[in-house]
Amino acid sequence: MSSMQEYSVTEDESEADIIVVNSCTVTNGADSHVRSYISHVESSGEAKIFLTGCGAHTKGEKLLEQGRVSGVFGQSEKIKIDEMLSKEEPFYEPGDLNHIDESVVDDFIGKSRAFIKIQEGCSFRCSYCIIPYVRGDARSMDEDKILEQIARLARNGFGEFILTGTNVGSYGQKTGTSIAQLMKKISQIRGVRRIRLGSVEPIQITDEFKEILDEPWLERHLHIALQHTSPQMLKYMNRRNVYKQDRELFELLASKGFAIGTDFITGHPGETQQLWEEAMRHVRELPLTHLHAFSYSKRDGTPSAQMKPEVNGKIAKERLHELESIVKAKNFEFRRSFDGELDVLIESQKDALFIGYDQHFNKIMIESDEDLVGNWINLQKYEVKEESNYGRV
Ligand code: SF4
Repeated sequence: MSSMQEYSVTEDESEADIIVVNSCTVTNGADSHVRSYISHVESSGEAKIFLTGCGAHTKGEKLLEQGRVSGVFGQSEKIKIDEMLSKEEPFYEPGDLNHIDESVVDDFIGKSRAFIKIQEGCSFRCSYCIIPYVRGDARSMDEDKILEQIARLARNGFGEFILTGTNVGSYGQKTGTSIAQLMKKISQIRGVRRIRLGSVEPIQITDEFKEILDEPWLERHLHIALQHTSPQMLKYMNRRNVYKQDRELFELLASKGFAIGTDFITGHPGETQQLWEEAMRHVRELPLTHLHAFSYSKRDGTPSAQMKPEVNGKIAKERLHELESIVKAKNFEFRRSFDGELDVLIESQKDALFIGYDQHFNKIMIESDEDLVGNWINLQKYEVKEESNYGRV
């Protein structure tokens, strides 16, 4: 990438002449963090501040009017960052919400695992979520470009690819293809060993997707966003999933040996004690192994922000902890009852231990005298402890 060659990057804020704030706006809390960070920069020096990221759409105009930032540019304009930073006059260029990024490679972990961005935006309208308004509707990256980039990375030794996006499972819907078809094509690229998916929605595990469940290149872990397990709460949240079908789907996946993660929000308005207890009865029934949960945080501009009755924040946090401890115990049980080999990709090292993830996306710590970072290891013997698995090679 030839951008920003005229600039040097500093870790020390006080040395910076320009600060680009790449903002998030997913909760009101994220917005206030951005505002307080800008106040902190204003009070500690003369640096020019530019605002980009999702927050450019929700609060950029106001911050510009108040003279608190020198310029605001949206996601699609990041590619022109040199031009943006050299502008002398204040400007507001939110860009195009339907823009598709040219570059699909998003990030790397070491030299073995690459994150590939395959789509942007979301056409769902969950009541608590601001994302569709700041990222636009779902649109997919060009298939040839994705395959070309993966082939290039695979030639350079990358074996694992993680497909990411705002709503990955919607890939290809408008172009007559699908996430399952894309994954099949990726799997045929020489050197591709394991494919992982970001979060998908239950309704995106279609019959076509179910046909690839036995493929050896598909990671034995899927992250399927439920957000709740009370049918009434799912309605309040304007979700498209239905608990009864979610349960059937999870049972099918578990019968095929998948570890299953989910997203969950506790304390959304309307979550009475009775609905919560029903939801936890359902969670106990589900074969869940991983969890990405939050307590509800109000986001202005979303339908949920107007809903009543609200749930006390302390109760929402307590519910979050209750949920976390249920899933933690389920994960331990899953690891204890699995009696096969672990296929581990080592990502990093901490002190004398190497840290990797197996095919179920469970962390494992491995002791070794050799440098294992970036290696694939097949482990037949290991110890299962409550916090994680341990091995020695
Ligand atoms: S599917 Fe995800 S990104 Fe889309 S509106 Fe719902 S929570 Fe937001």
